Amino acid sequence: MPRRADGLPTLDPPSFDAFRKKAHEMLDGIVDHVEHLADGPAWRPMPADVRSAFDAPVPFGETPIEDVHAEFERLILPYGSGNAHPRFVGWVQGGGTPYGMMAELLAAGLNPNVGGRDHAAIEVERQIVRWMRRLFGFPESATGILVTGTSMANLLAVIVAKTKRLGAATRERGLAAEGMRLIAYTSTAAHGCVRRAMEHSGLGSANLRMIPTDAGHRMNLDALTAAIAKDRAEGHTPFLVVGNAGTVDIGAIDHLDALATCAKQNDLWFHVDGAFGSLGVFSPELAPKLAGLERADSIALDFHKWGQVPYDAGFLLVRDGEAHRAAFADEPAYLARDERGLSAGQPWFTDFGPDLSRGFRALKVWFTLKTFGVDRLGATMAETCRLAQVLEARVASEPTLELLAPVPLNIVCFRVRHGDPELADRLNRDIVVELQESGVAVPSTTRIDGKLAIRVAIVNHRCREPDLQALVDAIVAKAP
Ligand SMILES: *Cc1c(COP(=O)(O)O)cnc(C)c1O
Repeated sequence: MPRRADGLPTLDPPSFDAFRKKAHEMLDGIVDHVEHLADGPAWRPMPADVRSAFDAPVPFGETPIEDVHAEFERLILPYGSGNAHPRFVGWVQGGGTPYGMMAELLAAGLNPNVGGRDHAAIEVERQIVRWMRRLFGFPESATGILVTGTSMANLLAVIVAKTKRLGAATRERGLAAEGMRLIAYTSTAAHGCVRRAMEHSGLGSANLRMIPTDAGHRMNLDALTAAIAKDRAEGHTPFLVVGNAGTVDIGAIDHLDALATCAKQNDLWFHVDGAFGSLGVFSPELAPKLAGLERADSIALDFHKWGQVPYDAGFLLVRDGEAHRAAFADEPAYLARDERGLSAGQPWFTDFGPDLSRGFRALKVWFTLKTFGVDRLGATMAETCRLAQVLEARVASEPTLELLAPVPLNIVCFRVRHGDPELADRLNRDIVVELQESGVAVPSTTRIDGKLAIRVAIVNHRCREPDLQALVDAIVAKAP
């Protein structure tokens, strides 16, 4: 057990000089890694002997930091998921930045608990909320909170909408006492976490209507209106419509303004899943596509996707701050608030979500927004959309490839043509797996109109045109 100069055991380094030297080495190691990302494969599978190293027994004794760090470099560093790599275009993932990384280090050094109380980390998160209000055109009374990701933000939005509809007393009484069926609406293009939010909130996914979409994957408004009328006629209680600002499969943006009007006419809470697309308001080029977003009752989004903040950094913005607070706030004796001292500074962030202990996510968001500025982040997003257009044109020019969906933002879905539908699915799935395993690039797959598609989502700021051309070259070379 390390001991201090006075002989007492400690968890701090016995020598801060030696620690500082080691800490600098560790920092150099990870900065080197980020600097040279492009030289390595986009992903490499973990060999069995490396994986089995994680079966090592519980470490009851001490291990010197030098050895633990050496293990990190040998067992963990080379086998990341690759989302920071320029040729990682799978799913919808951001690449992070070295500035965000440093903010994480500083946040961990401070180690504040951002559930509440009166300290600087709270003010940083409040500033993020104020900036988001401003950027999304929300009123001063709007509230917000950082969460893990959009899955969680969507869940919180469903809970806020439900509590608003039923009144705060429902928190105690529970759904069984309400004697009504609350119905929510979203489109068939919605992310699966909207369905899960209905499940986790106890409302039940059977009470989520999946409204069909048009050819551009946008919710069909007539079908929505008809579904609401039908549910009303059957005695149910429509309460929520979830619009999309950037669908997960192709990046489609619903007719948000029309959805807002429809929600208002039908007395529904209008929530927008804007996981990546909503941050397009940062770009003057993209913002017009999001018209109507400023009319939402709530917006869920991820800073860790198009915002390039290191994982995890989701966010929920709620127009009616009182409704937001009424859904979660509570004040047990051991969390009593005060006018002065460390217990001051109401409301606390724990009043706006289920978490009490919360990390300092706000610092990496703050560093990212400040060091780059909103304009530069917006320009980076617009550039990913331009690259998607370049990729779309290249796909269209290749006789062996077919485009499977429109390209409204930064996602391109296509595949290698094959006469036999089943073989086409297998061929394209195999191509994606081979690209991943060879480390050439990481696209992922989805299904468009039942067809397996190679899906290239350009979210990562490091992706450039030659990366995409190399990806298509590799795919075309595998075409039969
Ligand atoms: C990524 C995504 C989600 C889920 O967000 P997480 O941060 O992964 O929880 C939800 N909706 C859409 C449209 C997404 O792209």
